[in-house]
Amino acid sequence: MTLTEKILARAAGRARVEAGENIWVNADILMTHDICGPGTIGVFKREFGANARVWNRERIVIVTDHYIFTCSELARRNLEVLRQFVAEQGIQYFYDVTPPGARGWSFDPALGPLKRQHGPRHAGICHVALPQKGHVRPGEVLFGTDSHTCTAGAFNQFATGIGNTDAAFVMGTGKLLLKVPETMHFVLEGKLAPGVMAKDVVLHIIGRIGFDGATYRAMQFGGSGVAFLSIEDRMTIANMAIEAGAKNAIFPFDGRTAEYVEARTQLNNTKRDYVPVEPDRDQKFVAELVVELDRLEPLVACPPDPSRCKRAAELGDVKLDRAYIGSCTGGKASDFVECARILRGRTVAIETFGVPATPEVVADLQRTYWGEKTIWEILTDAGVQMTENPSCAACLGGPPDTFGRIDKPLRCISTTNRNFPGRMGHKDAEIYLASPATVAASAVTGRITDPRQFLG
Ligand code: SF4
Repeated sequence: MTLTEKILARAAGRARVEAGENIWVNADILMTHDICGPGTIGVFKREFGANARVWNRERIVIVTDHYIFTCSELARRNLEVLRQFVAEQGIQYFYDVTPPGARGWSFDPALGPLKRQHGPRHAGICHVALPQKGHVRPGEVLFGTDSHTCTAGAFNQFATGIGNTDAAFVMGTGKLLLKVPETMHFVLEGKLAPGVMAKDVVLHIIGRIGFDGATYRAMQFGGSGVAFLSIEDRMTIANMAIEAGAKNAIFPFDGRTAEYVEARTQLNNTKRDYVPVEPDRDQKFVAELVVELDRLEPLVACPPDPSRCKRAAELGDVKLDRAYIGSCTGGKASDFVECARILRGRTVAIETFGVPATPEVVADLQRTYWGEKTIWEILTDAGVQMTENPSCAACLGGPPDTFGRIDKPLRCISTTNRNFPGRMGHKDAEIYLASPATVAASAVTGRITDPRQFLG
């Protein structure tokens, strides 16, 4: 069996499963957030009853991350629905943006978008917060009401996005009926060259197979190149599996996975035991594709979809209005570090927004010194508007007062994962997706730029 089949067989209490079978799977964790949580809760109450109890209050994780630093009354109402439900059910893991005791809290525009406004429980964007807070474990099943839940496949976990109705069912029963996906195998060989990042790997793959090339399939990564990818690199690649239509992504378990998961579960006092899955000799793949990492170049996905990949070097004529560094794909500490490597001692030529994925990323950047300056200072000195309020921000457009939202038909280069029309706000804006290094280099020149020209 493939890695995905092995996890699903275990979660179904079976010795074997085959691709195409419909099976009942037990969930380990259900994650929801401020956008889909209220809808999920509504369906749960409608179908299970107003006084129903959730299946397991320790296995439901609720995050506030999408529309939180905004004055929108609708967004505030969503947060209230979550708070009420958490209190009523005794949900153990609720990462609330609100400072404790500040009932009715909402974003204060007078304080501005840059200075911290959140309380200590805020954890930032769900897909980065979940592993940081010790909620992902190898060999387990994670369902989340968000398509980029597949990010946790980086940790040898079956993780997939589900709709509100399915999530309400999981909330009430702890199970879900699903079809075992076929598995595609991506063999990563070699090592990335300087200036080439994990984002380039996944853009390359989506460019090769198309935005529907892995529809309802598992994308399993393997090969000697995996060992050279950090955990955050693997998260970036797994995050964008859904941009090829995949059901999930999955990486093999190794020492890096163990180190990360053990540190995080211990730190946060979450469940520490887990059983990873190892590859079998008789795995059956529906397709296999070799990616030679050392031959990859910085890539850019042109609008209107993430599969329109071109080499950054051939897009030098594309003039830009804005750059954006952030999201669950490109707002991790390592992403900002790569930006800082390019931006150190330079100045951006276009408006550039930086939105760290989690408060932990903010703290890392603010306490790590390169010489006299922190990484945070290197970025702000270069002219990047860095906010201390981690959230999805403009990745999904958001209410009109969202930080970094594109309100005009601008051309933006971004570390995010989707570039469909209207994704970051204005429907006529053009979004170019690229690695943090390429976004930083392009911010300096004001045109799409291969970052290798700035590296020694
Ligand atoms: S950062 Fe963007 S892609 Fe990630 S969860 Fe938020 S809105 Fe979705």
